[in-house]
Amino acid sequence: MTKYQLNVAHLYGNLLNTYGDNGNLLMLRYVAEKLGVTFNAEVVSIHEPFDPEKYDLVFFGGGQDFEQVIVSQDIQSKKEALTSYIENDGVMLAICGGYQLLGHYYIGANGEKINGIGALDHYTLSQENNRFIGDIVIHNEEFDETYYGFENHNGRTFLGKGEKPLGKVIQGQGNNGEDQTEGVVYRNVFGSYFHGPLLARNEHLAERLIRTALANRYGNVEI
Ligand code: GLN
Repeated sequence: MTKYQLNVAHLYGNLLNTYGDNGNLLMLRYVAEKLGVTFNAEVVSIHEPFDPEKYDLVFFGGGQDFEQVIVSQDIQSKKEALTSYIENDGVMLAICGGYQLLGHYYIGANGEKINGIGALDHYTLSQENNRFIGDIVIHNEEFDETYYGFENHNGRTFLGKGEKPLGKVIQGQGNNGEDQTEGVVYRNVFGSYFHGPLLARNEHLAERLIRTALANRYGNVEI
């Protein structure tokens, strides 16, 4: 047993795990273990309560509209617990469908309204007969870091109150193809449309998530 431990929830990991999103979890485990931290991850899915006190880090992946509809119904029962986790500065990474469901709603490709939990102030519209697919590069001014990835989404997300983008689009489409924003940062929540392990290609972000989660639990740690 190591000195430090992190408890990690993989939200709906058996439903929302498209395009290898769970590679992010593998990367988080890799970084944690390199730093000598024990990484305890478990899936929290349908009909299972989310305990905001238990977890130090939450990962929420993306998926197809079909699975997103199922999750959008169940997640309403976890809305209060997830909102409290977020407002207490819990660390979270949400990709694509998961990112959309943290906001108010997502209009699916068939035009149906899929409710989110409104913990963050963004909303997501659909686009007709088109998806944003391809390589993407963004730059985060605050951290002065450039992130590289691949996006594949129908949704067009518009940020709201208190939300900053994860980065400014240098190449690709990002949140909506219009305002040059990509993803979101709100408190310690990071959202992004980058699929395929975002963190494996952007290790600074992986380390930031781990170090923030450690600081929340243990205060200043020297590792
Ligand atoms: N179904 C959503 C969309 O198409 C999310 C897709 C995803 O998670 N890749 O926008």
